[in-house]
Amino acid sequence: MTAGYRLKQRGINFQILEASTTFGGRMKRNLGFADFPLPMGAEWLHARPEVFDMLIANSTTKVAVQTLGYDKNDVYAFWDGTVLKRANLSGETDLKFINSSWFDFFEHYIVPFVIDEIKFQNPVTTIDTPQGRATVQTQSGQEFSGDAVIVTVPLKMLQERRITFVPHLTQSKTHDIDTAIFWEGYKAFLEFDEQFYPAYTEIGVTPSASGQHGFYDASYGQNTQRHILGLFAVGSAARPYLRMSEDVVAQLILSQLDEIFDGKATPSFRKIITQDWSNEPHIGGAYIQDHEDWKRVRQLGNSVGSSLYFAGEAYTDGEEWGSVHNAALAAKRVVDQLW
Ligand SMILES: Cc1cc2nc3c(=O)[nH]c(=O)nc-3n(C[C@H](O)[C@H](O)[C@H](O)COP(=O)(O)OP(=O)(O)OC[C@H]3O[C@@H](n4cnc5c(N)ncnc54)[C@H](O)[C@@H]3O)c2cc1C
Repeated sequence: MTAGYRLKQRGINFQILEASTTFGGRMKRNLGFADFPLPMGAEWLHARPEVFDMLIANSTTKVAVQTLGYDKNDVYAFWDGTVLKRANLSGETDLKFINSSWFDFFEHYIVPFVIDEIKFQNPVTTIDTPQGRATVQTQSGQEFSGDAVIVTVPLKMLQERRITFVPHLTQSKTHDIDTAIFWEGYKAFLEFDEQFYPAYTEIGVTPSASGQHGFYDASYGQNTQRHILGLFAVGSAARPYLRMSEDVVAQLILSQLDEIFDGKATPSFRKIITQDWSNEPHIGGAYIQDHEDWKRVRQLGNSVGSSLYFAGEAYTDGEEWGSVHNAALAAKRVVDQLW
């Protein structure tokens, strides 16, 4: 969507081919569970708010998105499987969206400029890039041609060979696609009658580089009386939750919380909502592991010839990856290099 927005600013014709029925990908939002927008995927801003203006790149638009940092006195806890150790969130730089989300930002500032050019339910199956041209085929047999194509699908889609490239990608590109580790991903939100948990509780993962697992106060900073707890699990930590029914996941989470917080979870539990990213048909997981080799990520982001480009979460310049602003900046960069 950012690539489309930038192309529109440059006056260049484009078409966005989207496999699913809606826009947003891993920025999905729920408006019914709580009295503020719940981010079922991307949640925190892992950058300074100035990045919004960088993405809009339009001096006449004033971005009004409220964000909030954590207080250094907020409690950060670590559960090692036996003991809950408490400290303060002193070094935390991530920002929460207040009564908003990454999805809301895109919906408001980017989507209006690209929505007419999105063709939904159009999974791309083949990309043919003869010298200086690009032809794209979708599952329904439609064909689209242009000077270039920018691939922005989650890496898992390439690992699963959902798209055929003609000519074949080079051995080294294919090797990088296959060896990069795309983490599993799962989120859930639970409502409770009372708040018995701190701002953030990290659950120890073994080995520690294989994933992340945490419970956090999702109501933090929101104008609400409701107590919503978030579960974030990526990599190996997500596996116990995948492909389970909501009831089974609720029991699993409640028993963990009861163990950590002295039986306070179950009596206070009201309801749950879950999001299994690994089983989203056109996503397949969370994002490239935090500890990926930056050189591999840079290779993934490299273009092939003069008409095949890559941008998005897994296809950056290798400096950073895995978050919305990096994905979007990569798309902006590709368009700026191209045209
Ligand atoms: C659980 C979780 C938590 C996260 N938390 C954060 C966070 O707090 N902060 C943050 O900044 N980031 C976070 N992220 C990462 C962030 O969501 C992603 O980096 C970002 O949304 C990726 O954007 P993208 O456009 O590259 O890919 P996506 O958003 O995945 O978009 C790719 C699109 O391609 C479509 N597609 C797939 N296959 C095809 C095909 N064959 N043809 C056509 N279309 C296709 C998909 O339907 C999708 O819409 C999180 C992600 C997850 C899963």
